[in-house]
Amino acid sequence: MTLGVLAVASEAAPLVKTGGLADVVGALPAALAPHGIAVTTLLPCYPAVRAAAKGARALRSWPALFGGPARLLAARHEGLPLLLLDAPHLYDRPGGPYLGPDGRDWPDNALRFAALSLAAAEVAREGAGRARFDLVHAHDWQAGLVGAYLRHAPGRRVPVVFSIHNLAFQGHFPAGIFPALGLPPEAFATEGVEYYGGVGFLKAGIWYADRITTVSPTYAAEIATPEGGMGLDGLLRARSAVLCGILNGLDTRIWDPATDPLLPARFSAADPAPRAANKRALQARFGLAQDAAAPLFAFIGRLAWQKGVDLLLAALPALLDWGGQLALLGTGEAALEQAARDAAAAHPGRVGAAIAFEEPLAHLLHGGADCVVVPSRFEPCGLTQLCALRYGAPPLVSRVGGLADTVVDANEAALAAGVATGLMVAPGSAEALSAGLRRAAALWRDRAAWARIQANAMAADVSWGRSAARYAALFRGLLAPPP
Ligand code: ADP
Repeated sequence: MTLGVLAVASEAAPLVKTGGLADVVGALPAALAPHGIAVTTLLPCYPAVRAAAKGARALRSWPALFGGPARLLAARHEGLPLLLLDAPHLYDRPGGPYLGPDGRDWPDNALRFAALSLAAAEVAREGAGRARFDLVHAHDWQAGLVGAYLRHAPGRRVPVVFSIHNLAFQGHFPAGIFPALGLPPEAFATEGVEYYGGVGFLKAGIWYADRITTVSPTYAAEIATPEGGMGLDGLLRARSAVLCGILNGLDTRIWDPATDPLLPARFSAADPAPRAANKRALQARFGLAQDAAAPLFAFIGRLAWQKGVDLLLAALPALLDWGGQLALLGTGEAALEQAARDAAAAHPGRVGAAIAFEEPLAHLLHGGADCVVVPSRFEPCGLTQLCALRYGAPPLVSRVGGLADTVVDANEAALAAGVATGLMVAPGSAEALSAGLRRAAALWRDRAAWARIQANAMAADVSWGRSAARYAALFRGLLAPPP
């Protein structure tokens, strides 16, 4: 029997993306379809979404949804069935999904995403057009109130699977917003949406969910500890019976070095040699010396404390000492953007920085760099290292979260067994990272050893295959009648 799932999220690739959440929400429907799971994705109708999802038709309307009229639109984009919450007073704005053009959070974010959650709860219960839903898959804090709205309203009880993509983004708002949410007073409680005196959207998502997932087994364990729990570890321990980690996969249709139209030269595990042309193109694009003998390291990601880019810049002297080059692609905190620009200016021809969010450049970096560095302080799953594996740029990662679950460190045992796919270092230390960079440069110069690591990396299964099966089993288990 086909199960109908309503996925609810604030972003989905390729329509609107600020990070890995969008990749996951965009890729899961196709990955779940072979398992008899039909996913329809509910998104806010931002301008970019409206422009891309042409031919949308209205299914229902709300005369007033958090301060203005709203409609539910049905659309398809690249085969993905979509429901769009068209509420111009909440979503028809310039800027990103969460931030205005001034770089600050929209002041009404609580209401913007409460509206998404409330609409999702109603749609889950009542269906949309001909679609009927057996369960809701709610992603991150922006969909955190779906379970609360379902629980505190009469009608069909639709189970909720809540997925945490990053515990650092909690959707924590002052208590003063509670009356505007339209929840009954008893919901403002420890056994409800209340969180440290305010309203916690992520907390509510965890509290009301029937099942909780996060995006790697190691992160599932880390967030249940005081060190990794960011204030929510007690609640996560209390709910550990329904919490599990399922690794993200890559959309291997988009990320395929053999067919990638964004690469100057396409290649495969059987014939990685054309990567050399990509390396030259990458060196040219980042103003680096055209030197095939220099190990080229790359960083791709948000310029944020989480990602450890400051550690990489601190380890730069070591990287340069060993003859390396560095190409950096990212946007984020102003100080880190400036630090990246400064590093490039201080080391012309050896360090290049692109302060931009540019998917084509990300492909070029993965397809041309020798090694992608992911020095995160914490990392729920991480997609960058998966791209790096598939594109034959063995990643150097820190031993946290999904990085620890997806990379096999080139230690003596792994090298002897011929199973290494990258390198791993202790998190949060520029010294450990420096040592890792030196180890990577030395291994890279050992052509036979590196070729083996590269081949293993490219052979690693980074697809959605196993993880989609795990989600499907989780969904079916939740709906199975009790024994
Ligand atoms: P997070 O979701 O924490 O930002 P992930 O590694 O899970 O990190 O996902 C980030 C995704 O966004 C990856 O697909 C990565 O390649 C992409 N990405 C991040 N920054 C940029 C950028 N500046 N340009 C292009 N792609 C980027």
